[in-house]
Amino acid sequence: MAIHFFNTLSRRKEEFVPLVPGQVRMYTCGPTVHDFSHIGNFRTFVFEDLLRRYLKYRGYAVTQVMNITDIEDKIIRKARQRGVSVREVTEPYIQAFFEDLGRLNVERAEHYPRATEHVEDMVALIRRLLEKGYAYRSEDGSIYYDISRFPDYGRLAHIRVEELRGGARVRQDEYDKEDVADFALWKAWDPEDGEVYWDQYPDLGKGRPGWHIECSAMSMHYLGEHFDIHTGGVDNIFPHHQNEIAQSEAATGVRFANYWLHAEHLQVEGQKMAKSLGNFFTLRDLVSSNNPSGRAWDPLAIRYVYLGSHYRSKLNFTFSGLRQAESSLDGLKSFVLACREVRLPGPPEPDVAALVGGTRERFVAAMDDDLSTPPALAALFDLVGEVNRRLVSGRLNQASAGLLLDFVEEIDRVLGLRLTEQEQPTPEEMELIARRQEARRHKDWATADRLRAELASRGVILEDTPQGVRWKIDRKQPR
Ligand code: AMP
Ligand code: ZN
Repeated sequence: MAIHFFNTLSRRKEEFVPLVPGQVRMYTCGPTVHDFSHIGNFRTFVFEDLLRRYLKYRGYAVTQVMNITDIEDKIIRKARQRGVSVREVTEPYIQAFFEDLGRLNVERAEHYPRATEHVEDMVALIRRLLEKGYAYRSEDGSIYYDISRFPDYGRLAHIRVEELRGGARVRQDEYDKEDVADFALWKAWDPEDGEVYWDQYPDLGKGRPGWHIECSAMSMHYLGEHFDIHTGGVDNIFPHHQNEIAQSEAATGVRFANYWLHAEHLQVEGQKMAKSLGNFFTLRDLVSSNNPSGRAWDPLAIRYVYLGSHYRSKLNFTFSGLRQAESSLDGLKSFVLACREVRLPGPPEPDVAALVGGTRERFVAAMDDDLSTPPALAALFDLVGEVNRRLVSGRLNQASAGLLLDFVEEIDRVLGLRLTEQEQPTPEEMELIARRQEARRHKDWATADRLRAELASRGVILEDTPQGVRWKIDRKQPR
């Protein structure tokens, strides 16, 4: 079976065939660092991580670029309001962004170019567009892209633009479908921009680049003029990605990206997230207790929420959904711990090997089908249920358990839930566990209870089972 992706360009699932066999080059629109990224943004970033991880799992060498938009209208506004430089606004948010990616176990892309470090590339591209007659200068000195010169304009967004409003222009970086119009490539300096401008390009004039040109310039810089996959959230389809196509293909004369994949939006309790509605959460709000549940959540439970629905469906985030995700994740981790404790001797059991093989097939078939995570996770849970039944009746040997653990590790290369990387007690805590066992052997229940309480206060939760003591590490704040 081949991988199939839903391509926004054709609105169909298409077989994925990379330009160079065995290699994938993909561009993922990154954060605008005017603030902390919210849980909607991370839905898209985790989808892109899943895409990357699955392509790697299927044997492709992946080169991923994610830009950092560190110059843009909102950033400039914030810098002006605070009376600081653009960099002073963006730098802390860039650091925070990488910390958040780490929390969500998002793999690092190969390149994270910042827009401000690629202005030269953007200028070169704008010059090409001017030379080819796709761009023009307006009365105020700004340079605009003339969408009427690009017959395919609107194709990605499925907008019919027979009646392009000749000469209508938008200067701001973000706008709606109602405003289909020529867009700014280079914005002539405006007093609103304060100290933010580039004045070393006399042919363009004192000014700054528009938002859309940055992704065309940076993708080409790192991936070449024609590459495999371009992604973002659905709000990027228009105008941003449509404009990227127009700029890039007009300048180069070749097709830009072959596959366009877009993640649907996350909503909270059925509504669009908005600060005014009090349902707007950054990742930081959820992993600290700064949220209506009053709890600090495990970021990997949030990652599980993302994986639990298909990336092209709207994701309705709720705290009860998050609680369910947490318990599903706990179920998978307990399964790993239980498999680790099996000591029964004997060769691997053929039916366990068959179960693993069948589950892998289901997992791959689901993921090949446009990254369908819900059936992929269902396959994994069916295996867990089946094996748990055997564990309860003591019918699983250590060799089979090893096979299962290897399989979970394999699948987790795609899921990224750190299922097999569970934290171990420190040597000091191991010593306390051993002392408690010793106390129990001597029926010194008072000491045993005291040690259990001490371990619990450090986040090491003990459970006594017929097979011996089990521990679980939970270093989150108390519930
Ligand atoms: P921004 O930082 O605004 O440039 O957005 C970063 C990424 O998050 C882009 O790919 C957006 O399409 C995506 N995005 C924005 N809002 C949401 C949302 N509510 N759900 C999912 N993705 C979103
Ligand atoms: Zn972009």
